[in-house]
Amino acid sequence: MKCRKCSARAVINMRQHKLALCKTHFIAWMQEQTERFIHHYRMFARDERVLVAVSGGKDSLALWDILLTLGYRADGLYIDLGIDEGTAYSETSYACVRAFAARHPEAVLHTVDVAAVYGASIPEAAQVFHQGKPCSTCGLAKRHIMNRVAGDKGYSVLATGHNLDDEAATLLGNTLSWSVEYLRRQGPVLPPGEAGLVRKVKPLCRFYERETAAYALLRGIDYIYDECPFAADATSLRYKELLNALEQDSPGSKLRFYLNFLRAREQHPDFLPDEAGLTLHACPTCGQATTNDGDCTFCRMWDRVRRFKAQEVATTPA
Ligand code: SF4
Ligand SMILES: [Zn+2]
Ligand SMILES: [Zn+2]
Repeated sequence: MKCRKCSARAVINMRQHKLALCKTHFIAWMQEQTERFIHHYRMFARDERVLVAVSGGKDSLALWDILLTLGYRADGLYIDLGIDEGTAYSETSYACVRAFAARHPEAVLHTVDVAAVYGASIPEAAQVFHQGKPCSTCGLAKRHIMNRVAGDKGYSVLATGHNLDDEAATLLGNTLSWSVEYLRRQGPVLPPGEAGLVRKVKPLCRFYERETAAYALLRGIDYIYDECPFAADATSLRYKELLNALEQDSPGSKLRFYLNFLRAREQHPDFLPDEAGLTLHACPTCGQATTNDGDCTFCRMWDRVRRFKAQEVATTPA
């Protein structure tokens, strides 16, 4: 198969776009498209400082690479979750992030070690707060920490590497359960909220996972190939498999599903109205926005984890 633009050997064929491209033109296409999405969805302006949440995976490192190549002032944030489970997942992913950052002295890498700052790793905290289900703990902690670091360090926008497969799977899950509040908030841009919530953007949300993977490989980015050991239990993987089966029969299904949802919501804003009576206020302990009376869920979680650990120490025989 030949590149549509130069007739050299194509490295990728994107059936949903009827577009095959060589390495050079595919890399350029990914960067141009990302720039186009940033403008189209009004994600951020040239002079804004962007904080990219990097996990060490292909998507977030590809995003950081693209933004730096496009000339944006993009720094990275790595959150060390303390996930090992015999796979050294956090250690390996951090090594990939550090290697990328070392090649980009123009950018800053911020790191938050969850266990060092809050007193327990994510799997340990999950044992106490989420009946051993680390993804709930992890999601709560990541959202809080990303928002806090962005606010503390003066970034007006936080970018994550979610790709189309992630977004379509989330959309399918939210639709199956008719989670109106989540459906209302899902999209390429989540505007800044009250009480110091920063704007969140997903510049890669229209790229298929295989495209971000191809980009990272072709750019020579060293990323962690293995999934988090807890990912196998995630329901979103089953939704991805379902959507892949649809895509196989009908190329472009995933993209149409996601884009038509965004279009429908824009054309019929009353379909998913703002939830009445949902008021945010600042958590008295950390200052971040919460709908709770009193402390936010993040502060409650760490309070309970700390009390549990203190109790454990007190009851352990010397
Ligand atoms: S799979 Fe779960 S625990 Fe692992 S990084 Fe993702 S959300 Fe966190
Ligand atoms: Zn070409
Ligand atoms: Zn709090």
